[in-house]
Amino acid sequence: NFLLSSMALNGGSSLQFDDEGTSELAAEIYELERKKLEMGRVLGQGNYGEVRIGVIRHSDGTEETVAVKKLKSTAMNNPESVDLQRECAIMKSLHHPNIVEIKAIVTEPSTLLVMEYFPMGCLMAYLRTEQESITDQQLIKFATDVAEGMAYLGENNIVHRDLAARNILVAAVDLVKISDFGLARQVGYNGYYAVRDRGQKLPMPWYAPESLAYGKFSVQSDVWSFGVTLYEMFSRGQEPNFVSGDQTLLLRALQQGRRLPCPPGCKPLIYRDLMKPCWDAEASQRPSFKALLDKLRYVAN
Ligand code: ADP
Ligand code: MG
Repeated sequence: NFLLSSMALNGGSSLQFDDEGTSELAAEIYELERKKLEMGRVLGQGNYGEVRIGVIRHSDGTEETVAVKKLKSTAMNNPESVDLQRECAIMKSLHHPNIVEIKAIVTEPSTLLVMEYFPMGCLMAYLRTEQESITDQQLIKFATDVAEGMAYLGENNIVHRDLAARNILVAAVDLVKISDFGLARQVGYNGYYAVRDRGQKLPMPWYAPESLAYGKFSVQSDVWSFGVTLYEMFSRGQEPNFVSGDQTLLLRALQQGRRLPCPPGCKPLIYRDLMKPCWDAEASQRPSFKALLDKLRYVAN
């Protein structure tokens, strides 16, 4: 009576029914024994994590292909590394069609995060391989999906802090999901999260000035990163680097008002009405994800 397959089918509603007809909360992700999981090739990696394809061998003889995240061995003995258990805990609490669902957790001998496998991979790779065929309409749908997922995160007081095309997974030609909650945090009553461990390697080109200057993260700094993600999308996979050099140089350029340019081939309307407003120096002046969704609906027509 695995909850696993029913969970995938009903898309994360909170009530589950097992064979005996009793209900359980989907939020209680089941613990998977390591020996039931076979690990395969690496699908991708970031600074701390490594994601591999995996196969679960269920007791009833069925097999299920999944994606499995573990901390890189270098990160595992580093106390400042991203805590995979926290990442699991945050993902467990989230249920939305545009957010990747966690399926199971392995705890022994080390923590593994088991999630749905998306054969189409991350959005960055997809943008690059499909750049000739991808349409504006498709990109606007992707942007809408990301904004929907981000609005939900904001309602739940979670800041993602690593929103970028490499952390968005392509589920179908018209569906993407936000992934990689390795840097995600709950915000305080004041609406922001302040970083203490400044030694961490952080994704600077995606960061708002207040994050670079003071380590301050909020829904509004996620909106800034959303703007940079739009740049990645509408440039069809360009790196969002316009300042070479370190954090200080990037911050100075931003404070002088410099911003990423309109990507070649991107409609000026999309640059002016969607991307640029996300990069307002004043965090409170940036649009909310709800307002961005309205604008996306407008440009879609
Ligand atoms: P990290 O914390 O190391 O950045 P991510 O969660 O971003 O880990 O995963 C790293 C890469 O692995 C992604 O950019 C993507 O290419 C690939 N990947 C992650 N999760 C999946 C998945 N569920 N299905 C397919 N590929 C995935
Ligand atoms: Mg990542």
